[in-house]
Amino acid sequence: MWFLLPRNFDYYAPASLKEAAAVLKSHSDARVLAGGQSLLPMMKLRLASPDAIVDISRIRELHGIRQEDLV
Ligand SMILES: Cc1cc2nc3c(=O)[nH]c(=O)nc-3n(C[C@H](O)[C@H](O)[C@H](O)COP(=O)(O)OP(=O)(O)OC[C@H]3O[C@@H](n4cnc5c(N)ncnc54)[C@H](O)[C@@H]3O)c2cc1C
Repeated sequence: MWFLLPRNFDYYAPASLKEAAAVLKSHSDARVLAGGQSLLPMMKLRLASPDAIVDISRIRELHGIRQEDLV
C-alpha cells in the first residue's frame, strides 16, 4: 500500500496557553493542531508543511465551552 507522508516536523503538546504562545513565537512556521481533521490531510498531501505542530488538546484552559459577560 502506498502512503503520502508529511515532511518532518517538531511536535509540541504544551500544558498551558503561555507555553503554547512561547512555542508559536519561537517557530517561524508553526501551526496549531486542534482535531487534525483538516490539517493532517493537508500535511500528508504536502499542501501544508509546517516545521512545528503545537497540539492544544492538553491545555486545560481551552477545555469546554463557557459564556462570559463581555460588557
Ligand atoms: C470527512 C470530513 C467531512 C467534513 N465535513 C464538513 C462539513 O460538512 N462542513 C464543514 O464546515 N466542515 C467539514 N469538514 C471540515 C471539518 O469541519 C474541519 O476539518 C474541522 O472544522 C477542523 O477542525 P480540527 O479541530 O480538526 O482542526 P485542525 O485540522 O486541527 O486545524 C485546522 C486549521 O485551523 C488551525 N487552528 C486550529 N486550532 C486553532 C487555534 N486555536 N488557533 C488558531 N488556529 C487554529 C490549524 O492550524 C489549521 O490550519 C469535514 C472534514 C472531514 C474530514
